Amino acid sequence: MQYYNQDTYIYLEGEFIKATEAGIDLFGQSLHYGYGAFEGLRAYSTLHGTRIFKAEEHFDRLKRSCESINLPYTWDNHTLVEKSYHLLEVNNLLGAYIRPLVFSGSNMHLAAAKESKIMIAAWEWGPYLGQNLLRVFTSKIRRPSPKSFCIDAKISGQYINSILASSEAVKNGFDEAILLDENGFVAQASSENLFIEKDFKLYTPPLGNVFPGITRQTVIEICKELNIEVIEKNLTIDDLKNADSAFLSGTAAEIIGIKEIDEISYPEQWEHTIGATIQRKYKKLVLEEENYEVII
Ligand code: PMP
Repeated sequence: MQYYNQDTYIYLEGEFIKATEAGIDLFGQSLHYGYGAFEGLRAYSTLHGTRIFKAEEHFDRLKRSCESINLPYTWDNHTLVEKSYHLLEVNNLLGAYIRPLVFSGSNMHLAAAKESKIMIAAWEWGPYLGQNLLRVFTSKIRRPSPKSFCIDAKISGQYINSILASSEAVKNGFDEAILLDENGFVAQASSENLFIEKDFKLYTPPLGNVFPGITRQTVIEICKELNIEVIEKNLTIDDLKNADSAFLSGTAAEIIGIKEIDEISYPEQWEHTIGATIQRKYKKLVLEEENYEVII
């Protein structure tokens, strides 16, 4: 996958520059210690033009992520949203994945950063886990404890945990990993939240041990509109394996169904599940084919 070429622009510290000319600081805390924060947004080509879905919410979360690790955040989020739209224009992108990254400058100390920079990149990217139903497995690797790390934040270094879990899944012939939390309850996938369906209700692990996904929240809003009950509670591996169906949610992966967990197939046909209904609704929502105002 090529993320940029000679003609690609990125937004770096107030300017649009060629991605090839950005340079890299080899003495930065972000590179050495993973001391940075990032976001993942999606822009869709809608009937009303290009729209970045829930752009402000993503940049607000970026700000909160930086604050939680004392990384200075000195930008105005309205401006960053405008710059993101501008970035899509200069790169001739209608639909795209957008990646803002806040990183620290040269400093080899394990000390809070005094300065930070922001860059925003964008590229065309299909659904992160593809379009086919997934075969997932429960990973031996657990999510970090909220007692040791701010797991509500999207911090660069934390993604080693995700890389270990998802690469272990692929090595074992699966598409994605499901991680348990520190107490052994089902938490989420490596970079998506998890929902299961049982007896016409949806269940998802509560906030606290899982990442507060914006797509997770959107699923809950869609369910409210459709009068589908969503219960946020701790789920066991047995709950996961005895569910009627299950799906993952995330900006990059969107809504994607799971067909097998640890080689056990879900009984319900995906097309007939609540997940499939939500997948259709979500597509309409991001493409602005339905009025979002009625949902929130
Ligand atoms: N979990 C993790 C660990 C994530 O990094 C993400 C975002 N990629 C998600 C869940 C889903 O969050 P969102 O719906 O906001 O994209």
